[in-house]
Amino acid sequence: MKELTDSAWATTNRVDNTPPPAVLIELQRTAELLQRIRNYLTACAGIDTPMSDISGFRSIPVNRGVGSSDGSDHVRGMAADFKAHGMTPYQVCQALLPKLDEFGIGQIINELTWVHVSTKMVAKPINRIITIDRHGTRAGILQVRP
Ligand SMILES: [Zn+2]
Repeated sequence: MKELTDSAWATTNRVDNTPPPAVLIELQRTAELLQRIRNYLTACAGIDTPMSDISGFRSIPVNRGVGSSDGSDHVRGMAADFKAHGMTPYQVCQALLPKLDEFGIGQIINELTWVHVSTKMVAKPINRIITIDRHGTRAGILQVRP
């Protein structure tokens, strides 16, 4: 839970990022999802594959501070961004694509420098698996250069 609520931006800007009680059950589901992902990536890689740079819950002020919209799944505790040791975000997304339903991933985004996963199923299937980079938002997990 600490990994999902710590925010460097909140600390730097002295903004509270304590999740409200209503969000805790969703954060628990998100934590369980991340654990499944870590276990799976570790099994795939054959070595422990810890996650870093995790951004999970963001209060509205924190979420606005990092430039995200109020409708973000992060505000509801239903999403997390992360990096996986020794793997590019593209590689992580490729590894997870066959496991979306089994793991309960409602949305996966290759965001170039990290991976975004959400437990919330998207309304439109075209938005479930996407890449966001300087070219914009595109369907599918695409290999892109920074
Ligand atoms: Zn995200």
